[in-house]
Amino acid sequence: MINVNQAARKDRLLTLSCDIVRPETRAWAALPKRVSSRRLGILGWLTGLLGTAGAFIADRGWESFDDPSWYGTFRLIDMVGIASILLATGFCVLGWMLGRHAVVAAPLVLGFAAVPHSLDGYASGPVWWLGSAVGAVLALAAASRSWREVRAVRALARSSTTGRTAAVGANAVKASKRALRRGHIKALVFVATATAGWTVAFAALPAELGRTYEEMAKESSSSAFAAVAAALSIMAIATVVSQGGRLFAMSRVGKRLVWEVPAGAGLAPSWPFVDDASGLVPLKDATSGGCICLLEFRRSFPDADDRLMPEEGVHASDYCPLHGIDRINDLSAAEFAAMAAESWLWDERSELPEQSRPNENRLLLYGFAGCIYTGVPLTARAGYVDASFPDIGLARVAEPGAVVPCWDQAERPAAGVLDTVDLRPAGYTGFAFRYRHGRAWFEAPEDDAVRPPALLL
Ligand SMILES: [Zn+2]
Repeated sequence: MINVNQAARKDRLLTLSCDIVRPETRAWAALPKRVSSRRLGILGWLTGLLGTAGAFIADRGWESFDDPSWYGTFRLIDMVGIASILLATGFCVLGWMLGRHAVVAAPLVLGFAAVPHSLDGYASGPVWWLGSAVGAVLALAAASRSWREVRAVRALARSSTTGRTAAVGANAVKASKRALRRGHIKALVFVATATAGWTVAFAALPAELGRTYEEMAKESSSSAFAAVAAALSIMAIATVVSQGGRLFAMSRVGKRLVWEVPAGAGLAPSWPFVDDASGLVPLKDATSGGCICLLEFRRSFPDADDRLMPEEGVHASDYCPLHGIDRINDLSAAEFAAMAAESWLWDERSELPEQSRPNENRLLLYGFAGCIYTGVPLTARAGYVDASFPDIGLARVAEPGAVVPCWDQAERPAAGVLDTVDLRPAGYTGFAFRYRHGRAWFEAPEDDAVRPPALLL
């Protein structure tokens, strides 16, 4: 049989000591707001769309629809020119799907078309350049905004340091590395496929050089490959820029930080299921004298010690003199309210009581560095903090105050209520319902009513 304490100690060895940063609600709210990915993406896409439309008008494109794609013999510049038109058309159709990447892509798409069109003396040359310049200004504005945010987050980290430290568990460290690795792989895949695309395009080119439109059956395969290669190159640049921005922000802000940020104010866990489990006794209490919770657990599940998660605690036994139902119901209302944060007071299906002071509700993040890298959401365990599981995604940017719709909450039993305890004076948002034959349930009145919810006895 595995010794539970040993398991707990082994887990703790794999932790990382981090400084805790706890920004004030007001200072947090004063951080520069990020332009939403969607809005930025649409702006980038519109730049590409308008630039391409402008070039089409400048060249009176409608008059040359049926004309050959090139005149005379095929040249390198024809390959680039045809590829750039294919690319710009593709961007007009699909560019809105690129999100923030569209801001990096727009000036590159237009710039890629500007070179051959200027060299070949098209009327659209200056229009392509103008569009590319507008896109570049937009991209620089977005970059400068991100830079301001990183600076503000760095300053906030410096001014909100608490002097406390937290041990961060292995799951969180793994989740953070995984998120970064995913970005690296994405960038590498684009660089590799773009290189392959250009190789194929330039391999197909010599066979086409010097041939006429009719000789090549009116199509150039090197141009098609070059268009795909250019699209992949632009994606490679966009992902390298965004990954570089992440690493830069993380190095500026500091990686070994645990942020206690105001909950519901701009960031939300990627995993919608709150895992503050009720009905649990911390392991250190369960191994102290007088508690039978661990004993009862082992008696009910003789071979389940490996399933015991020491960091989460042990299921409270209904008959434990310290954590059983009688103990809960013997507490005076004041004693109960003072202990309301203890998990074992509450039925497994009940929520834990919610703090009423907004400053107390905090979301824990490992390695937050601004919106570019939102960090790994953490859960408090006995003596340390960790991600719920190693595959958990980074926190997501959410509208402030937006409530994450969870699964349907279990409803409190209607019968068997012993009494209610008003927890609001103790700093919570609602009431405890104690039951004659079960653990307590927490319930917050829906409309901040002053009266307790109607008692159904
Ligand atoms: Zn117990």
